[in-house]
Amino acid sequence: MVSNLATRRRASIHTLGCRLNQAESLLLRDRLEAEGYEVVPFGEPADLGIINTCTVTRLAEAKARQVIRGFIRRNPRAFTAVIGCYSQMGARELAGIPGVDLIVGNQDKLAVLDHVRLGKLERPLILRDRIDRSDFSISFVGEKPCNQRANLKIQDGCDFMCSFCIIPMARGRARSREWENLLAEARSLVERGVRELVLTGVNLGTYASGGKNLADLVDAIDAIPGLRRVRISSIEPTTVPDGLLDRMADPAHRLQPFLHLPLQSGSDRILAAMRRKYCLDEYMDYARAAVARVPGLHLGTDLLTGFPGETEEDFGATYRVLREGPFASAHCFTYSEREGTPAVRMADTIPKSERNRRGALLRRLAADKKHAFHRAHLGREMGVLCENRDGELWPSYTSNYIRVVVPAAAAPGRDLANRIATVRLERVCADFTEGTLITPP
Ligand code: SF4
Repeated sequence: MVSNLATRRRASIHTLGCRLNQAESLLLRDRLEAEGYEVVPFGEPADLGIINTCTVTRLAEAKARQVIRGFIRRNPRAFTAVIGCYSQMGARELAGIPGVDLIVGNQDKLAVLDHVRLGKLERPLILRDRIDRSDFSISFVGEKPCNQRANLKIQDGCDFMCSFCIIPMARGRARSREWENLLAEARSLVERGVRELVLTGVNLGTYASGGKNLADLVDAIDAIPGLRRVRISSIEPTTVPDGLLDRMADPAHRLQPFLHLPLQSGSDRILAAMRRKYCLDEYMDYARAAVARVPGLHLGTDLLTGFPGETEEDFGATYRVLREGPFASAHCFTYSEREGTPAVRMADTIPKSERNRRGALLRRLAADKKHAFHRAHLGREMGVLCENRDGELWPSYTSNYIRVVVPAAAAPGRDLANRIATVRLERVCADFTEGTLITPP
């Protein structure tokens, strides 16, 4: 147990993968501090290392192994705990890495500290319980001040069983966080300085607790005094609750005009093989209606290329839909086989080099789309939530998720951190936009 450890031991956490992992790592950081650890940046010497892993692609797993080995090399005497989706799915593989002490799957990951011991173990301890099907609460909420934006976990797991996706196996069936429990954390985060909450889960649109849905939840969060923004991280196309877009369109509501709606493919044939729940026309009708309904909406998507059977024509359809659709951003992934999913047994696999070629083409186009979205906003005056000063710049985001940097020289002696400033968007740079400060002067 932690109480066995000498006082002020140093701990560090490394987080790979999605926003849900980030939200869980924030809870763990709070718990480490409450238990007397000094939490240091990953890379500095530490007595305890926690690596929160992802399993969504082979690349994500390779990255995790690299991070784990690096930590152990730099800290050969530290207790090394590996948690999260890779621990759930690949515990045996992880146990083969010399120096790993503890492997905890998703069911118990937030209780990892209960299993940390003094000193290294001869053989790794593996805790990988069956993932609960029932809704959940999180018992620990921290007290330390927080940054401007925080991910808030509201849901976990997924029942959709898309044929390429390992997540239902890694994170279990869909379940929702208990209403009052999550609002208590939301209030605590706002009291500690958070100005923007990003609602996070695996399949957010399926959120349901005590007869309330995601739209009810954003209303309840909107009512928290001191909060300036609430954002939805990503939502499945068929699950957006009625009225959510109206809230985004309402300037008095703090729900931000940001809709990340994973499409995956522009080919109906491939969408069916992926077992997605819509066809292209349904998706695009909804997407266009959303852009028309919500002024300035940032429509983002996920695309997956190189799925078994994806012909050049199918790929062309995906490329075209990204080029011609009203997208502001796209995360473009190349398909990788995940053991345990139906897609690994499908015929007509695409050679890796071809997957990579298609992925690179989509990524280049996605960068152009992002530039075009940013360029369309040049000359506008917009509110941005400023983050901590970074050298001579104040980094920030607009409500519709344009990265804006403001030269600190424009506000000499002013501390803009955690404040909403008004800026004029002047110039598109690499993947951000430069802005001049309008208020505060
Ligand atoms: S909706 Fe599909 S892709 Fe998304 S987590 Fe669920 S199974 Fe995976």
